[in-house]
Amino acid sequence: MFKQTTWEKTLIFELSTSGRIGHQVGELSGKEKSLLNQVKQRISPKLLRRELPDLPEVSELSVIRHFTRLSQMNYGIDTGFYPLGSCTMKYNPKICDLVTTFPEAQNIHPYQDPSTVQGSLQIMYKLAKWLAELSGMSKVTLQPAAGAHGEYTGMMIVRKYHESKGSLNKKTEIIIPDSAHGTNPATATMCGFKTVVIPSNEDGCVDLEALRLAVTDKTAGLMLTNPNTLGIFEQNIEEIINIIHEVDGLTYYDGANFNAIMGKVRPGDMGFDIVHFNLHKTFATPHGGGGPGAGPVGVISRLEPFLPVPTVDFDPKTKLYFFQYDHPQSIGKVRSYFGNFSIILRAYTYILRLGYEGLIAVSEMAVLNANYMKTLCQTIKGFSVPFGKDSFCMHEFVLSSQQILKDTNISALDISKFMIDRGFHPPTIYFPQIVPEALMIEPTETEPKKMLDGFIAILRDISKFVYSDQEDQRNQILEAPCNVSVRRIDDVKAARNPILSYRMLKQQKE
Ligand SMILES: *Cc1c(COP(=O)(O)O)cnc(C)c1O
Repeated sequence: MFKQTTWEKTLIFELSTSGRIGHQVGELSGKEKSLLNQVKQRISPKLLRRELPDLPEVSELSVIRHFTRLSQMNYGIDTGFYPLGSCTMKYNPKICDLVTTFPEAQNIHPYQDPSTVQGSLQIMYKLAKWLAELSGMSKVTLQPAAGAHGEYTGMMIVRKYHESKGSLNKKTEIIIPDSAHGTNPATATMCGFKTVVIPSNEDGCVDLEALRLAVTDKTAGLMLTNPNTLGIFEQNIEEIINIIHEVDGLTYYDGANFNAIMGKVRPGDMGFDIVHFNLHKTFATPHGGGGPGAGPVGVISRLEPFLPVPTVDFDPKTKLYFFQYDHPQSIGKVRSYFGNFSIILRAYTYILRLGYEGLIAVSEMAVLNANYMKTLCQTIKGFSVPFGKDSFCMHEFVLSSQQILKDTNISALDISKFMIDRGFHPPTIYFPQIVPEALMIEPTETEPKKMLDGFIAILRDISKFVYSDQEDQRNQILEAPCNVSVRRIDDVKAARNPILSYRMLKQQKE
């Protein structure tokens, strides 16, 4: 079990002693000196900095200790279990990082002539083909930089499609189930549509009656998160798609959680028109690190003309890869240049190393791990699975601690803080909102059984402690976390009065 280290919070600025240095820079040559002078003279706006910044003056050893301690106060997938539902915080093979450090990947520039970067274009072309194959789509763009950005690209394609048929003024609504990811309604709204939310039925799936009532001539399309945020595979997909297609709406598959279905089923075979992937969940880039990411989008052949420009294409005559800008009906560019190449390269490496059989094994393990945990977690007193209790889940499931709140007044937040004390990252809490006191658990495919058992054992302890008549056991939960560098924070104060730099701290003290 990983325990964070706590240190006295001395800032590196406070360790500073005037004149101390931790590095040696050689003397500048005559040529370098004159170059530096030239540059100095050319800095023209008066406001630009001319004197040295206020940097801490410390020895090399102080710097090493400072950053090593910071890393020990941190928590990540390399230190422990991270079952953050909907985020797929799995272990990503280090080789995928390694390839991005190769000079062939680092020392290239997007303005270079395509003839000089044929290898990179080939990687983009092949990855797009593989993603198209995995999803059953006709063509894929790698441009979007995130999942939500992929959704944006998809919704702009929906707009263009209706515009091309002269019906955009009529097609104003996008239908979204309440079990969708939160970005779906936000995206539809941002793209100028009215979002029509429909409720789930008691199985946690789309309520077909509610869907039929919501669909009208105004329906431009539907966005479906599958597996949905309850970790459930939608039951009536063919019927849902037919209902939307009957009014000439397009169907969008939010495939952010592709690790649940890879090599098993394809959105294209189900009848979907547009799909997005999160390379920074399923394909070897960590999610949740604040970026960069990649959210490629695949479409059926009828929608290909609307894809962002340029597309990466191959000319069989010249045997050269090239950027194709000649798509008059394109929605335009959605990102500078051609996408986040380092993320594309990681995904390419990941798929190449695993192969098709390996990708199938990924999905099988992700689903097996989640079902193992779901089966055991719901037997623990105080916890329940409100949706899909008796059926299989996909790669994640949503536990509720509502009974514990009712019986003992201890909340999902208290429970998750206690997990931190036991060396585990808590699951996603209070999402999805259709489950009260939600704990959304995604174990991922890379965790061994021992780790899953360790997490389940903590839930058992929590149950024992909250129902205990010994005051100190209840308090252990209410006061957690104790053994960490940052204890419970004042969320409101942190939002209203953030201190984000040493300068802000100094101002605050003065
Ligand atoms: C993570 C996620 C998204 C959004 O992806 P970002 O890259 O964070 O924008 C969208 N839909 C689902 C289902 C997700 O899990």
